[in-house]
Amino acid sequence: MIAFCGNICTECPAFIVTMKKDDSGRKKIAELWQKLYNPNIKSEDINCDGCLSESGRFFNYCKTCEIRKCGMEKELKNCAYCDDYICEKLSKFYELESKGKRILDEIREKK
Ligand code: SF4
Ligand code: SF4
Repeated sequence: MIAFCGNICTECPAFIVTMKKDDSGRKKIAELWQKLYNPNIKSEDINCDGCLSESGRFFNYCKTCEIRKCGMEKELKNCAYCDDYICEKLSKFYELESKGKRILDEIREKK
């Protein structure tokens, strides 16, 4: 499951513990992400069905993500298929986390 930004949701720890309904895993991830990203992250925030899901259950950042919103509005499989790739929203995101860019660049090379 490749997200609009190129993240692979099925490899994301939040997605994995959600699918396993693993509360001790949620606690461990929250502790790690508090140190790495935001001290306010709680274990109950670690719930996500993946970027392409329409369940409404997403991790904090993904709940309000402008990249996801934009990709959904354009009805794209992911941002690799967008004529505006790489847009400003994605550039800013990749300053924090650039793994998805490699995935999307590979998709674009193959298409
Ligand atoms: S919601 Fe946004 S940041 Fe989260 S995986 Fe989807 S595109 Fe990436
Ligand atoms: S403009 Fe295109 S590349 Fe940028 S977030 Fe929207 S769909 Fe993705």
